[in-house]
Amino acid sequence: MARTHNLGFPRIGGARELKFALEKHWKGALPHAELEALGAKIRRENWERQGRLDFAPLGDFSFYDQVLDWSFLLGNVPQRARPHEGHPLDAYFRLARGRAAGETGSGIAAGEMTKWFDTNYHYIVPELSRRTTFRLDPSRLLAELREAQAANVHVKPVLIGPVTYLWLAKAKDGSDRLALLSELLGVYRELLQELAREGIDWVQVDEPALVTELDDKWRAAYRTAYEALRGSGCRLLLTTYFGRLGENLELVASLPVDGIHLDAVSAPGEVAPLFERLGPERVLSLGVVSGRNIWRADLDKILDRLEPIHEALGDRLLIAPSCSLLHVPVDLQSETKLDPELRSWLSFAEQKLEEIEILGRALREGRGAVREELEASAAAQKSRRNSARVHDPRVRAALETLTPGRARRASPYAERRKLQAARLGLPLFPTTTIGSFPQTPEIRKARSEYKAGKLERAAYERAMQAEIERAVRHQEELELDVLVHGEAERNDMVEYFGEQLQGYAFSEFGWVQSYGSRCVKPPILFGDIRRPEPMTVEWIRYAQSLTKKPMKGMLTGPVTILNWSFVRDDVPRSVSCYQLALAIREEVLDLERAGVQVIQIDEAALREGLPLRRSEWQSYLDWAVDAFRVAVSGVRDETQIHTHMCYSEFNDIIEAIAALDADVITIETSRSDMELLDAFDRFEYPNEIGPGVYDIHSPNVPTEEQVVGLIRKAASKIPPRRLWVNPDCGLKTRSWDEVRPALENMVSAAKKLRAEFS
Ligand code: GLN
Ligand code: ZN
Repeated sequence: MARTHNLGFPRIGGARELKFALEKHWKGALPHAELEALGAKIRRENWERQGRLDFAPLGDFSFYDQVLDWSFLLGNVPQRARPHEGHPLDAYFRLARGRAAGETGSGIAAGEMTKWFDTNYHYIVPELSRRTTFRLDPSRLLAELREAQAANVHVKPVLIGPVTYLWLAKAKDGSDRLALLSELLGVYRELLQELAREGIDWVQVDEPALVTELDDKWRAAYRTAYEALRGSGCRLLLTTYFGRLGENLELVASLPVDGIHLDAVSAPGEVAPLFERLGPERVLSLGVVSGRNIWRADLDKILDRLEPIHEALGDRLLIAPSCSLLHVPVDLQSETKLDPELRSWLSFAEQKLEEIEILGRALREGRGAVREELEASAAAQKSRRNSARVHDPRVRAALETLTPGRARRASPYAERRKLQAARLGLPLFPTTTIGSFPQTPEIRKARSEYKAGKLERAAYERAMQAEIERAVRHQEELELDVLVHGEAERNDMVEYFGEQLQGYAFSEFGWVQSYGSRCVKPPILFGDIRRPEPMTVEWIRYAQSLTKKPMKGMLTGPVTILNWSFVRDDVPRSVSCYQLALAIREEVLDLERAGVQVIQIDEAALREGLPLRRSEWQSYLDWAVDAFRVAVSGVRDETQIHTHMCYSEFNDIIEAIAALDADVITIETSRSDMELLDAFDRFEYPNEIGPGVYDIHSPNVPTEEQVVGLIRKAASKIPPRRLWVNPDCGLKTRSWDEVRPALENMVSAAKKLRAEFS
């Protein structure tokens, strides 16, 4: 008979308890013991929620990041963060967050953080070198096992697989990570033996690296690893997720493990081939409920696929979510303000467990045993399929007028440049900022009071206008060349637009962990997108009325809005992206009509949408770039289009960036000391570019000399007449005390170089 299990549950708590406790602890206001007690409470509650399944995960809880936990378990802790004295959690948080230099000694660099596969979760990159050694420390895991035993839950420990661990890591000295494999495997064997002694039967070994393109060395490592782990006492469930196995499918099928978990949501076509290669004994776990989105599953459709497999496999079939539920919010029950129809289409982590349980019961006892549940699921599918709120014929008609690949500006950049230069009259090395200015407590207060209905619209507008005035005054005093309104009215660069677009909904508590205590609440893109009315024009018009200098219109681009939302599963992402592009295009045209001469469309998250497999990059970039061009190409040649990106890894997508054909692009680079510009050795970027010269992530104020140095460096690779001078990113997290002197130095550096170069 089929069994059910889960791969991981969100650990932030239903009301983000963990976040608040961590932040209190870091301020010194919550003792270790209380933090630990909260961790235990969250684990207990999560296990209770998962009691409805045959196995619950163990080890999926983390105070910061599961990869960092794993580095500690493996004894791979960089020297700088080693526990000396004090509580073991101190060393852990030191590595997670770094420590500023101060009374307690010199600073400690935080571990590098990077994206967990193609999700918006970020993990702490394990650090390796030729000299790395491992030493097993399973104390935390075992203590959690005791808790589970005391609570009488049937658990399955979750391990990060040895090959994926090395794959996620970075060798600081450039050495070969795989040289460490054999020593690492010794530690894994030891761990598995220990778990077996504790009576553990199944262990989930996460190897998501298997859904990426691996070279022969890494593929061979998989064989070595699982040969070495065979017979170490526990049964291994080799777990892959986030994509299809593709050319790694044969490899996976041939590894000596006791079971295989496949993400059947992203790789439905691989269920059959894997099933065929399963053999007479192994277990197949199918991830049939998406752990990546918030849509209610179509249970009948899933059962149609599962029943024949169940017939053949019986208790060798496991039912699960596609991946850990870490990537979805905790519980839909908390959402009392969502419209009931929309709500009936959704499923958060708790509801997904329910869906898995229902599927298990349907397989074991027949669909009749869960008839009501299946009917409710079918009714939700039907209402969503037919809802006029999801399907808007006007939007479809507008989309049909688009011919992919045909969106372009009237004239090429060289022509546009002349017209723009004549109109804007900017100096060499023009200065600007990326959009936001410090979000002071007063701004936040006004916004939240207005949202809560405690502040009248008129009073709110006055408060925001006063902020805009302040921002303009600062910029005029600083003698910046192209001004911004400061974005005081925006809580978030996606939410602000989503709230004004048809087809978007917002949860109240739909938080998802991004890293450590940081959570995001992605908006829910549920239907066809339309812009009922202008979204930014009045603010920008007001800002422009205060100055003679050009005021930038400031928008978020379609690709970024898409990549930071929960997206539809009933149309391809590209369709929603084009719909967003059409909505932004109308806004761009309204801004132009209002006399705005420079419009910036931020694409902070363009890179984040890249598929895991390189072979799939180009098709993503094709529609993403095209959608951006749809958004911006309606304007006249003399209107200057800017875009902004928050990262500096450009080398591998520079052709796509150039294909955006923005007149000006501003990018992050100051932290990496203009390393980005190496990309320009290989490829001559044709338009104007503003490599960030002021690292806004740091409280340090750059000096004039530092800025001069960075611009000079940039000018050695890019013709000075195409260079802009600007910070790395928006300034909303900084204070005016930091921003004023930093921008002063930036502007004076630009002036200095102007004199030198002209
Ligand atoms: N315009 C936005 C700002 O200045 C851009 C933010 C971002 O790139 N993340 O805040
Ligand atoms: Zn940015």
